[in-house]
Amino acid sequence: MFSQKLNPLLNDILTCPACQTALRIKRNAVLCPNCAASFAIKEGVPVFLPEPLALVEPDHISNPIGPDFEAVLKEGKDFVLHIGAGATATRYPNCIEFEHKIFRHTNVVGDAHHLPFRDKIFDRVFAFNVFEHLIDPKNAAQEIRRVLKPGGAVAIHTAFLQTLHEAPHHYYNATEYGVREWFSGFEIEDCRVSANFAPGVMLAFLMSNVLEAARLGGASWKEQALISDSTVGEWAEFWTQRGEPPPGFGTLQNLPQPMQKRIAAGFELLATKSGI
Ligand SMILES: [Zn+2]
Repeated sequence: MFSQKLNPLLNDILTCPACQTALRIKRNAVLCPNCAASFAIKEGVPVFLPEPLALVEPDHISNPIGPDFEAVLKEGKDFVLHIGAGATATRYPNCIEFEHKIFRHTNVVGDAHHLPFRDKIFDRVFAFNVFEHLIDPKNAAQEIRRVLKPGGAVAIHTAFLQTLHEAPHHYYNATEYGVREWFSGFEIEDCRVSANFAPGVMLAFLMSNVLEAARLGGASWKEQALISDSTVGEWAEFWTQRGEPPPGFGTLQNLPQPMQKRIAAGFELLATKSGI
């Protein structure tokens, strides 16, 4: 089941993403009395993105956000904006789920760079695995700051050593210093590695993607087996000693570009100034 019914809290918090005027909610649309912008309501969800709109199967459930953040939602004391909520297992009345598609409990569909909400209304904002998918993360962080109450708190999870995912909408992998820069308008309490991103997870994720890229890149069974049977120690030693490369090195170095792009250490960009 989709929401079907508008979250009543939306009556007082929606603003026009174009001109920030309070919006009027009608039966099938949300209207801006100032600039005459109009936004459809689909499945009980105001939609602030251009069509086509994707509906995700309501039986799909995303990964849980972790017990600490779930506890905040369960307690129900704080008014929470959950950006990129995906398909949550439980709907919480005090949480506005914000997405770019309609998942089972989505309340609002929109763009994180232009939040359609009034200033200073949320106690907390959650945005897990969202920021690497934003074209302008610093701008989105400023939008979060705008909608938070003074003293309100933001929690994000974002990618660092992660391979390409959800292409083409995976724009940035950030170091700690990049993440701190995005949120430089905030008082940062901590920027730490949560268990879901710890080095063991990184290695598992990366290795799984290396093998998949080799397979999709047309490596033979024998070549795939050579990579699969190589050891972390062999790769590390090759990097530090610059000796003989481990078996499978040549296979990876010569994968087709689309496969290399998923798991490469970096990119070479060549560009020209336009002739005008
Ligand atoms: Zn407007």
